[in-house]
Amino acid sequence: MAANEELLKQLAENIYGEAAGKTIELLIRKGEATDEEVAKYVGISVNDARRLLNYLFESNLVKYRRIRDEKIGWFTYFWRITDDPVDKIVGHRISKVIEKLKRRLEYETSSTFYICPHCHRRYTFEEATESMFSCIECEQVLESFDNTHIIEKLEKEIKRLEEIKEDFLGIGTE
Ligand SMILES: [Zn+2]
Repeated sequence: MAANEELLKQLAENIYGEAAGKTIELLIRKGEATDEEVAKYVGISVNDARRLLNYLFESNLVKYRRIRDEKIGWFTYFWRITDDPVDKIVGHRISKVIEKLKRRLEYETSSTFYICPHCHRRYTFEEATESMFSCIECEQVLESFDNTHIIEKLEKEIKRLEEIKEDFLGIGTE
């Protein structure tokens, strides 16, 4: 396996688990494979294989061509590994994680929060108002919850990932 291919397999495994790693392994070995071939090789159902291949496609790890069966009108998909450089894929992946963290940060800064001292269920101000500031699980009186440390952690992580992303995309595109 070439270094790039090994990295691709590792990446797939890190993101989607062992089945994804095995899928990439098969595509590398065969060049191209159908949903059914992937399912058989990995030992999962054809539906699971399709779902997995779609995830891998969304992450830019695989590509496909498809051929329409004239008789039944269905498409057969032939999957292969991507020919994009791995650093570009990693950069793209990091962008997605950053987006997710930013959404979380937005949530954390969108409200003041309350917490149940007993079961630790967390409430936004709105939710707390709705339940008259008592926990809907155990009826304890809610306490205000300071999420400053969560916000700080998220901001720090976003900054760190943005720096890493620059490193990856910097090499590939310029
Ligand atoms: Zn509670």
